[in-house]
Amino acid sequence: MRVGCPKEIKNHEYRVGLTPGSVREYVAHGHEVLVETGAGAGIGADDNAYRAAGAAITKTAEEVFARADMVVKVKEPQASEWVQLREDQILYTYLHLAPDPEQTKGLVASGVTAIAYETVTDERGGLPLLAPMSEVAGRLAIQAGATALQKANGGRGVLLGGVPGVLPGKVAIIGGGVVGLNAAKMAIGLGADVTIIDRSIPRLRQLDDIFAGRVHTRYSTVEALEEECFSSDVIVGAVLIPGAAAPKLVTREMLSGMKPGAVLVDVAIDQGGCFETSRPTTHSDPTFAVDGIIHYCVANMPGAVPVTSAHALNNATLHYGLQLADKGMKALVDDPNLRNGLNVHKGRITNRAVAEALGYEM
Ligand code: NAD
Repeated sequence: MRVGCPKEIKNHEYRVGLTPGSVREYVAHGHEVLVETGAGAGIGADDNAYRAAGAAITKTAEEVFARADMVVKVKEPQASEWVQLREDQILYTYLHLAPDPEQTKGLVASGVTAIAYETVTDERGGLPLLAPMSEVAGRLAIQAGATALQKANGGRGVLLGGVPGVLPGKVAIIGGGVVGLNAAKMAIGLGADVTIIDRSIPRLRQLDDIFAGRVHTRYSTVEALEEECFSSDVIVGAVLIPGAAAPKLVTREMLSGMKPGAVLVDVAIDQGGCFETSRPTTHSDPTFAVDGIIHYCVANMPGAVPVTSAHALNNATLHYGLQLADKGMKALVDDPNLRNGLNVHKGRITNRAVAEALGYEM
């Protein structure tokens, strides 16, 4: 198969669908790989690195779209990209179609077979192509919170780890899933006093085992949320109710009970946020204050560290990508987890949640 990787064109997207390491794997499986010039610039991989891995470099994205049997990307195709897709082609990337009727219409009209990273599943019902970005965002959340907590950045002026003779800062993590677990690891590493709040008791048990006494766990009630928010220096919002908007667990009223200069890091902002006062921000202007409480609400946190994120994403996407390249559509027949990734096929929506959200027939 001929596999193509264009440069990402979405604003401030520096990741790339194929790293040179992934290209080597496709080439080793006997596939031809086309990479647009400069596609890897955001992760420090130049055209020569791709050539050395066995790719052919194209001058334009148009050439990649025109010649590839399968296009591998990171972000959903933009309008100028989806008009180039065609019926005998596979698109393998993040799509997030449910809130995006325009893109959905474009993909349906193109006839392309579109596989969405975010709906591919694993044996345990997890989302293996979404998890690495949650790992990155969870770990970054503590770096972002610690930075915002510095006085010059508007924060309380607390060092999360404390020093001998001075107590450490307190971190509350609401939601102990993939983001929460990774945030907790980083916060503990810095020496902070960490509490994880979740509404799943089996998950709290698991976290208690993993951290062996190094974190406090609390069942999620309004009382627990209030007590932890009022006493913490950094509060990480990391809840997820699959397919639904994030619940507003911290209200504006609660801000007045918090320590002035405390920091809210709303990782769940991509699902609408779990703090009532959150609104999406960008890496160039990541924080704002409401009632003296600093909010960090960057919707694409992994974009801050494209080198790490692109490699983590490629580690997760490569296995399924190779199946698609090796077997074509038969890969979807053979692997029900990969089949769950199929969102659009020959002008029809094939994912129930997307069809229901946008009013398409399945
Ligand atoms: P996950 O499913 O692994 O974990 C979510 C956890 O929230 C679960 O343990 C669940 O029990 C818990 N939860 C649900 N309702 C709760 C409540 N009322 N109180 C306490 N806990 C509750 O999800 P994840 O992968 O950790 O993702 C968390 C959020 O982070 C999602 O909204 C995801 O989209 C978002 N995210 C954002 C970015 C970004 O760049 N901003 C990047 C990656 C993920």
